[in-house]
Amino acid sequence: MTGTVFDVQRFSVHDGPGIRTVVFLKGCPLDCFWCHNPESKCRVPNIGYAPGLCLNCGACLTACKMNCHRMENDRHVYERAGCRRCGACAEACPAAALETIGRETNVESLIAEAVRDRPFYEATGGGLTLSGGEPLAQPAFAAALLRAAKQASLSACLETSGYADGSVLREVATLADKVLFDIKESDSERHRAGTGVPLEPIVANLSRLAAAGARLELRCPIVPGWNDRDGHWRGLAALARRVRGIEGIRLMPYHPMGVSKAERIGLDSANMPREFPEPDTVAQWAHAVQALTDIPVGVG
Ligand code: SF4
Ligand code: SF4
Repeated sequence: MTGTVFDVQRFSVHDGPGIRTVVFLKGCPLDCFWCHNPESKCRVPNIGYAPGLCLNCGACLTACKMNCHRMENDRHVYERAGCRRCGACAEACPAAALETIGRETNVESLIAEAVRDRPFYEATGGGLTLSGGEPLAQPAFAAALLRAAKQASLSACLETSGYADGSVLREVATLADKVLFDIKESDSERHRAGTGVPLEPIVANLSRLAAAGARLELRCPIVPGWNDRDGHWRGLAALARRVRGIEGIRLMPYHPMGVSKAERIGLDSANMPREFPEPDTVAQWAHAVQALTDIPVGVG
């Protein structure tokens, strides 16, 4: 069983309990304007380009059969229109100014990579986490990874946007020990405007997973100027209270690292916030949500 991933991160402490290895799968049905992993959106590999690293050597001109690269006044120019994302230019680039982001890999090699850190998992209650993108964009691969994790006696978490076919999500989620379920905005219209998809099927899927007995933690990105407002805190807390069995709420303060990543793969970053929220502001957010629910609220 093979699938496409864009990163494997060891020693993560932000994606479920304990120390974890996080496998980031490519593909996502949402289009959040602030996305901090924009390279996850597309199911197939992206070509990244960092002009600051370019040596203007021209090696990519020879490698590309689609004439996407040219020299203008001895300066290299990359035109993405017509690019088939074959990766030949990235392979030829001696300066890593061009790179292929995303690779096809298989379940066995990912599990073999994850089990190397078993002592750390055992000491901290950690394990493997599937993230993305949206893991349910590759449902068979995600399910195979979770089954293989179980066979290898690894604890496994699934991080999901919840925007997926309900029965498929339920089938895959029941293979995970814990589901980290994103709620990005509690107002229906704002959710659609900010993510490109409706909120209602996501809430319906959250309720279905809760009814099926899934262990659930809500993961809530807080984007300054978009969802950092009283109405969202109230909506979030009300949802968490209404859906029985939510174990925790984790606020994820916005990080602007997605800006440079978006620019590197040729996406428009104009609407992405540029600033980190202040630590005091983050503490106030957490306090505001905690004041509305008995469910433990964490940050980060
Ligand atoms: S990825 Fe392939 S088609 Fe695209 S610019 Fe590079 S060599 Fe050309
Ligand atoms: S091969 Fe790399 S370093 Fe050379 S011109 Fe192309 S992008 Fe620049």
